[in-house]
Amino acid sequence: MRFDDLPIIEPILKALKDKNYTEPTSIQRKAIPLVLNRDDVLGTAQTGTGKTAAFAIPIIQLIDQIGFNNGGRPKINALIVTPTRELAIQIDENIQRYGKYTDVKSTVIFGGVKQGPQVDKLKKGVHILVATPGRLLDLIDQGYVNLNAVKIFVLDEADRMLDMGFINDIRKLLKLLPEKRQSLFFSATMPESIINLQKKILNNPRKVQVDPASSTAETLDQYLYYTNRKTKKDLLRHILQDQEIDQVLLFSRTKHGADRIARDLKKYKVNSAAIHGDKAQNHRQKVLKDFKDGKISVLVATDSAARGIDIDKLKYVILYDMPDVAETYVHRIGRAGRAGEKGTAISICEPEENAYIKDIEKLIRQKIKVVNNNPFPQTDSPMTNQEKKEWNKEKQIRKQEFFANRKKSR
Ligand code: AMP
Repeated sequence: MRFDDLPIIEPILKALKDKNYTEPTSIQRKAIPLVLNRDDVLGTAQTGTGKTAAFAIPIIQLIDQIGFNNGGRPKINALIVTPTRELAIQIDENIQRYGKYTDVKSTVIFGGVKQGPQVDKLKKGVHILVATPGRLLDLIDQGYVNLNAVKIFVLDEADRMLDMGFINDIRKLLKLLPEKRQSLFFSATMPESIINLQKKILNNPRKVQVDPASSTAETLDQYLYYTNRKTKKDLLRHILQDQEIDQVLLFSRTKHGADRIARDLKKYKVNSAAIHGDKAQNHRQKVLKDFKDGKISVLVATDSAARGIDIDKLKYVILYDMPDVAETYVHRIGRAGRAGEKGTAISICEPEENAYIKDIEKLIRQKIKVVNNNPFPQTDSPMTNQEKKEWNKEKQIRKQEFFANRKKSR
């Protein structure tokens, strides 16, 4: 099936052609007609499946065709709420791209930067507003955002939203939205908390599912290196050279760890940079741009910072440590080989993480290929006291970071 087989208007088809997108992804094929039909949609899909276009394209089209406002200064007809700044920025970029041959206007608001420029854009009037929850409620309180004209509401990455502690913000927001509206709800996973939340938002929804486990299995090669804590650094450099990796997104468990890995790599003349929540927003945007432009070869990120990173044709991700939550593994590897492109995910596992592998393999319903040709194999020599201390400290920091993030997002 091609995009022109879907009932998409010419100006959007033209913009898609500019991007060289010819075939819709599975979620796009399923969701676009439903949204155009004004159905509520419950989508199980993670980033990397083409989810953004699946809601952005029909929303632009509906606004362009129906012109909800009957002329005059644009009012906010569609509100898209997403957990992270990076994701918000990217969604807005995509909307601008797909809508460039229409008169539909959009903008994005997120915290961590001055509100002035965002308010200026809002004052000019937009049809589509992309927002993170905190800044949105803030600007509503200040009277810069009015939701009375919202006809379409999108809650994106709902599971991550709850993980980040946004539930109260969402509850507040729901009270401010018009009752009569179309709602789209996307989540990578559907635990009970999410099922309960969607029931409060959606009305008789149509369900659309893209199975993350099988979609990653089809397009991604997954490898696993077992090693010890003290040999991780050397193993990482070996992998970078051995696999001739020119660009990779590398996941670190903690912000502190991310800085350290980037620093260590720089010592070996590997162009690297860290990106995480403690870095200023401007710095994060610059690093991301440098990475996209190919000026940085190893981008070290924490889970929450990496969440919104969308790099076309990113071939490699490396997991410098194994996550204790299996879903996180799926989120991480999902950054490579997006929208049907080939990709490789390489995991590095130290003895204390061995137990996590079983859960991960259960979730993805396949065995990860273990690389035996590994110059730094795992030995069963126990951790030294120093290493044990480090490991415990890292765990502690991770917990603190998790709670600090939750607090910040409230
Ligand atoms: P998303 O899941 O929305 O983050 O999209 C993942 C990546 O796939 C992004 O880089 C999109 O630009 C790209 N993409 C989305 N739809 C298509 C398509 N139909 N054909 C090719 N690439 C696409």
